[in-house]
Amino acid sequence: MLTDDQRERYLRHILLKEVGAQGQQKLLAARILVVGAGGIGAPALLYLAAAGVGIIGVADDDLVSLSNLQRQIIFLTDEVGGAKTAAVNGALARLNPDVKVVEHREKIDEGNARRLVAGYDVVLEGVDNFEARYALNRAVIAARKPLISAAVGRFEAQLSVFKPYAGANLPCYRCLVPTAPLRETTLNCAEEGILGPVAGVIGAAAALEAIREILGLQPSLAGRLFIYSPLALDARYARLPRDPACPDCATADR
Ligand SMILES: [Zn+2]
Repeated sequence: MLTDDQRERYLRHILLKEVGAQGQQKLLAARILVVGAGGIGAPALLYLAAAGVGIIGVADDDLVSLSNLQRQIIFLTDEVGGAKTAAVNGALARLNPDVKVVEHREKIDEGNARRLVAGYDVVLEGVDNFEARYALNRAVIAARKPLISAAVGRFEAQLSVFKPYAGANLPCYRCLVPTAPLRETTLNCAEEGILGPVAGVIGAAAALEAIREILGLQPSLAGRLFIYSPLALDARYARLPRDPACPDCATADR
């Protein structure tokens, strides 16, 4: 049952017939892991906490730096130099006391991905390296959990939901990106620069997809890639097929 305070806090959700009090209770019972508290993770974390997602894990081993503040809107100037996970915990606690934050102050790799993923229902990643993306991809395939994957470059942002276990034609992340590019600049705004709100748009969209997965809203973004090109003023969806020869999902239990 929702308390009076919760009924008021989440009233705009409850008014939606697609959510309602029942959907809100689902959100309060949900566990979402956000990997990477960067340009994508920062707005996504704020929206997930505001929505009342009951347990939010945040995995990041970085410190807040001054150059983060231009787009990573969860952090404050006086938090520069401190651990990102601790700053996230403080920010979300102030925003919504219904939310419990679990800090994972570690970099994701093959060695810890499965352990981290095990405690959550949905994983949202906005990391800046392919080693972490591939490790997470394999971990969520094994655990049969949805992966919301978002990336921003200078001129383009991309978002999709990967759940190859949910349908014979649905791809995993590796079906989309079979091998890591030699240079990671296409997905790394540290080298190329980015307008802050571009990360905000795709981070908010990623949070929305995580919420849609928790609520079971249809259609799912799985099997399609959302491509947002802010400088060209263009946004579109591309079909994303499964690669039958994918090294990560072709032989996975479906
Ligand atoms: Zn695959």
